[in-house]
Amino acid sequence: MIKAVRGFKDLLPEEARVFHWLEARAREILLRYGFSEIRLPVLERTELFARSIGEATDIVEKEMYTFVDRNGESLTLRPEATAGVVRAFIEHGLHTRPKPLKLFTIGPMFRHERPQKGRLRQFHQVDVEVFGAASAGMDAELVALALEILEAGGAGDLRLEVNSLGCPTCRKPYRESLQAFLRARRDRLCEDCRRRAERNPLRALDCKREECQVEYREAPELTAFLCEGCREHHRAFKAYLEEVGLAPVENPRLVRGLDYYTRTIFEIKAPGLGAQDTVAAGGRYDGLVSALGGPETPAVGFAIGMERWFLIARPSESPGLSPELFIAPLGEEARRWAFQLAFRLRKKGLRVETDHEGRSLKALLRQANRLSAQRVLILGEEELRKKQALLKDLSSGRQIPLPFRDLRDLANRILIEIRF
Ligand code: ATP
Ligand code: MG
Repeated sequence: MIKAVRGFKDLLPEEARVFHWLEARAREILLRYGFSEIRLPVLERTELFARSIGEATDIVEKEMYTFVDRNGESLTLRPEATAGVVRAFIEHGLHTRPKPLKLFTIGPMFRHERPQKGRLRQFHQVDVEVFGAASAGMDAELVALALEILEAGGAGDLRLEVNSLGCPTCRKPYRESLQAFLRARRDRLCEDCRRRAERNPLRALDCKREECQVEYREAPELTAFLCEGCREHHRAFKAYLEEVGLAPVENPRLVRGLDYYTRTIFEIKAPGLGAQDTVAAGGRYDGLVSALGGPETPAVGFAIGMERWFLIARPSESPGLSPELFIAPLGEEARRWAFQLAFRLRKKGLRVETDHEGRSLKALLRQANRLSAQRVLILGEEELRKKQALLKDLSSGRQIPLPFRDLRDLANRILIEIRF
């Protein structure tokens, strides 16, 4: 038996239905907030991710699905969406459009990580990006948007953590101070963190090992190093949030797994999720568009992890997809009628099921019950001869005789009976 690849998950119908429902909630709210959808390829040149996410990050160092294609080009399945959105923004000259430009995209991402609860190798994100807005108000608006989307999916008890990563100017002295701190404790750190201390000290703070985290309680904090502009931005961001009652929790050790962030970063956590509890994460990346060859463009965005959102979602609407009518035909001729009736009634928008397999009346009624059909139309040789079918309401048990002249007439009578 051939099985699915490890970390790649099938969504069975019940799960797919919830995913679809969640996506619909996200789209609805995003459109209300003035966002437009952009659809991008899942494959990009490897260089795009190496340059945007950063060479010395976990994603680029060890998590990417990278291969050389038949033309000898190095390609990578996207591990996240921002790089691709920025690539498209530059490639299609979207900076000439009115600002701010608000875009979102929904789709699969790929990372070669250890699969576990809330962590897959193919996972899905709702990714949201705003270009051409520099002020803290937009950062706060995106946080509010992320929370509204998650809550519309039934997620409650969310925790908002915020931090500022400053700008390249204030991050430089901080990086040096943190590096000195890490080097002084080298012996007590895990192998990854020793490497991070040299290559990308900030990333050490994101280590998942408890032993390292204990050490980092004493680590220098970036907030103490922020320059005037970054400090003011961070203050304004938090003030905006507080004004609408979204109490942010300051987490000075919050960093992100991608190098492109500047100033605001945030994570939304759901304590019920266990180890992988970050449902949504994002921040500002003012330097990325120009770093990838576009014009200087401030930008801010976030991504919701669909699988983790799914775990805390409470779909509220019953899908309401049970058939409005089950046609139970008995005999060859009745089955031909049933086929045509179903065809006509579905075109009129009715949810109709029927049978082609020649089952017995008993089996057909059982099937109608299993599908939670609202009504059954019984159509046997006798009914055809008498030109009178029987429509039975399964919840009330009420039976209505439906006399008809021909097939078209019967279709109309059914429609009138059900719709009016
Ligand atoms: P984590 O610290 O959990 O690894 P991350 O910092 O790598 O997260 P981001 O790149 O910020 O995650 O992605 C945004 C969101 O996408 C995460 O908060 C999470 O909900 C989801 N996500 C990231 N990686 C995975 C994965 N391997 N499987 C499922 N969801 C994921
Ligand atoms: Mg990760």
